[in-house]
Formats: sequence, C-alpha cells, structure tokens
Amino acid sequence: MTERQKTIKQATSVSGTGLHTGQFGSITFNPAPENHGIKFRRIDVTGQPVIDAVVDNVISTDRGTTLGVNGTQIFTIEHVLAALTGLGIDNVLIDMDMDEMPIMDGSSRFFIEALEKAGIQVQDAEKKILVIEEKVTFEIPDKKIKVTIEPAEKLSFSVEIDYETKVLGKQFAALSDISNFKNEIAPCRTFVFLHELEYLLNNNLVKGGDISNAIVFVNKVIEQEELDRLAKLFNKPSVEVKTKGILNNIDLHFENEPARHKLLDLIGDLTLLGINLRGHVKAQRPGHFTNTQFAKLIHQKYLS
Ligand SMILES: [Zn+2]
Repeated sequence: MTERQKTIKQATSVSGTGLHTGQFGSITFNPAPENHGIKFRRIDVTGQPVIDAVVDNVISTDRGTTLGVNGTQIFTIEHVLAALTGLGIDNVLIDMDMDEMPIMDGSSRFFIEALEKAGIQVQDAEKKILVIEEKVTFEIPDKKIKVTIEPAEKLSFSVEIDYETKVLGKQFAALSDISNFKNEIAPCRTFVFLHELEYLLNNNLVKGGDISNAIVFVNKVIEQEELDRLAKLFNKPSVEVKTKGILNNIDLHFENEPARHKLLDLIGDLTLLGINLRGHVKAQRPGHFTNTQFAKLIHQKYLS
C-alpha cells in the first residue's frame, strides 16, 4: 500500500519562552499543500522571510540546531521537527513571532499535543521515501562518535550515550517503530550538567532556561551555599540534589530519559533531509553537529 503525504486539518499554536533569548512568543503550525515540505516563516521580520527546514540551511549546531538564510535566523528547531516526523507530517508552514521555538518543558510533548488537536489530514500525493540500500557512516573516532544508517524494512533507531561521569554513564535507547514516538520518545526532556548550566547562566547564554525544562545532572559535591546561589540564579526559593545526582524537583519519565532525548534530537535533525527515511539508524554519542553532518552525508550519497 502506498503511503500518502500528511498535513494538519487546521492551524494550531504553541506559546512559550525561548531558551536562549528568554523572549516569550508563539509559533503557529499552518496546513500546507502537497510537496510543500516543512518551512518556517518569521512574521516578526520585514518581508516575512521563509526558511526551508533543510540541512543546507543549518548555520550552527551550538546548543541546538540553528537555521539561517540571508541573516535571518531560527534557533532550536529540533524538538518541533521531531514532533512532525513522529506524527508523519510532511507539509506544514510554521509562522513564528520570535527567532526561536519555545522550549516548553524541553521535550516534544507540547508540539505533539497541539498538532494532534489540530488533526492530521491525509493528502493525495505519495509520501517521499528514501530507501537506504547501502550503509552510510559518519564518525569521529577521537571522540568515539559514530552514526550509521543501514537497510531495514522500516525506520528505526538505536542510540548509545556515554558521558563517562558517575551520574550519567552509558545509556541506551531504541525506537523500533516511528509510530511509538509519541509515547516512548516525545515526553523526554533535554538535560544539562550543572557546570554547563552555571556557565550558561553566568554568561547570560540561557535566559528562558527555567529549572523545570531541563534535567540537571550534578556531577560534583555541592555545598548548601552553592545550592542557595543556584536557587537565586534559577529564581526558586530553594533547590536540592535528589537521588542519582539530579537537581531539584524533576522526576524522570524514564530511567534512560537522557538517551531517549538524544534519540529525539536525532529524529529532529534528520527531518532536515526533507524526506522519510527507511533504514535503521544506529548512533553512538550523537549530538547536533554529528546529526547534521550525517544528514549531509546521506544527502550527498542519495539526494544530490
Ligand atoms: Zn534536544
């Protein structure tokens, strides 16, 4: 049976704060015609420039994937793109009134909810599918980074992370069928290590980063004085280190939530290929740089 392209039945919006700018804004998903693909439109910028969600438009992979065309930038697109791929949506125009996606709880959950509420519309045109016939590998041996895609009946993923710390060592996550994305992967939130977060906060690099939208791993002994200082930085009455070296009041949705989040990011970044993959993706220590380089390799081999 041929698979058909999909869009949404009606427009739907999500509002929230951006992680990097701390700005409050909204994104609106609009239905789009067949073969339109996924595009972003900055309605807050003169001329309302439209930027295609394609890997050629990636200009940075520092703390998130950033697209840019002619000086107009769009930050932190990966969790939104993952939600679209997770629901099999091919065509949508995303209007935005700020330069990044709202971070929400650091997962894809809120985007999934909004899109499902709008309803999925099946279109007439056939889905564009890239069937992987020969293995593609991207690796950085020094950093033990390796991502491959190999032939398989359907799209599936397995991910291994290893931060070589006591609180977050080796972890695995897998997704055997993209239809399980919503329940198994979408709710999984982003995470940081405390030392990274302190650096980001002290240097004003994270502004919307309320402590509730990231799992914070504490990989050092931490004194009360430091906790008080952090509470102040986070604008909370108090913070504490919970069991397993996790800061504050977050309960993990899954034991391996960090690895699952890396899988979520990988799905989001591979959405920039603009085509539905059919193959098994296996990633060791993935990240936005690795994911987008890998997407470029697949593009080179199969799509250009
Ligand atoms: Zn992420």
